[in-house]
Amino acid sequence: MAATGELAQPAKHQEVGHKSLLQSDALYQYILETSVYPREPESMKELREVTAKHPWNLMTTSADEGQFLNLLLKLINAKNTMEIGVYTGYSLLSTALALPEDGKILALDINRENYEIGLPIIEKAGVAHKIDFREGPALPLLDQMVDDLSFHGSFDFIFVDADKDNYLNYHKRLIDLVKIGGVIGYDNTLWNGSLVAPADAPLRKYVRYYRDFVLELNKALAVDSRVEICQLPVGDGITLCRRIS
Ligand code: SAM
Ligand code: CA
Repeated sequence: MAATGELAQPAKHQEVGHKSLLQSDALYQYILETSVYPREPESMKELREVTAKHPWNLMTTSADEGQFLNLLLKLINAKNTMEIGVYTGYSLLSTALALPEDGKILALDINRENYEIGLPIIEKAGVAHKIDFREGPALPLLDQMVDDLSFHGSFDFIFVDADKDNYLNYHKRLIDLVKIGGVIGYDNTLWNGSLVAPADAPLRKYVRYYRDFVLELNKALAVDSRVEICQLPVGDGITLCRRIS
């Protein structure tokens, strides 16, 4: 939503780690305070607050997106899931809380240290048994899984929130691993709004570097007949892909 006239607000929100694309701080705060924070499970609040103190807190999933993922997983009755890009585990915890007792999350990240910041909170919430965390780059592990036919079509939901320059490489593999009717969610597909910035716009170095990869991903998903898609302006943009063939 574009803010205009006297209502215009700077598009820089106060919320730590938020990446909302709403043009009004006040409207984003309204959503958080009315619909998100009052319903946020205590464990997610604790993890959000612990993560806010971490130097890389910009990477965390925002509370409104965490709520969205949690509800989505329940709506599709997800049981077997994967997450690429864990950081301290906010989206992981929102997933773990949504899954049934025997639900599973294969969680991949090159950094275990950050996962261990959130792990005690995840354990206290009683959902750690659903998580199989593997430290290391995701791509070689996905290749191993693609080579093993027993993994084909086995995932109900896959959340991708890691190195944006590999998203298309992930997609090539994940399309075999997600079941027909299952969903892959690619995060940050609106990339700070930079996708439509003029060529000479002042962008942070990492924003500029990854922008072309996100543009390529969006173009590729838009014409991929194996999936139905919906790109939502939640958080920094999430594109849901439902596999249909
Ligand atoms: N989903 C997380 C959350 O809710 O807090 C945020 C993930 S953060 C944006 C991106 C993560 O991707 C980082 O923790 C980083 O270590 C991880 N990562 C980067 N490259 C990776 C790779 N090749 N394989 C697996 N994880 C990777
Ligand atoms: Ca993200």
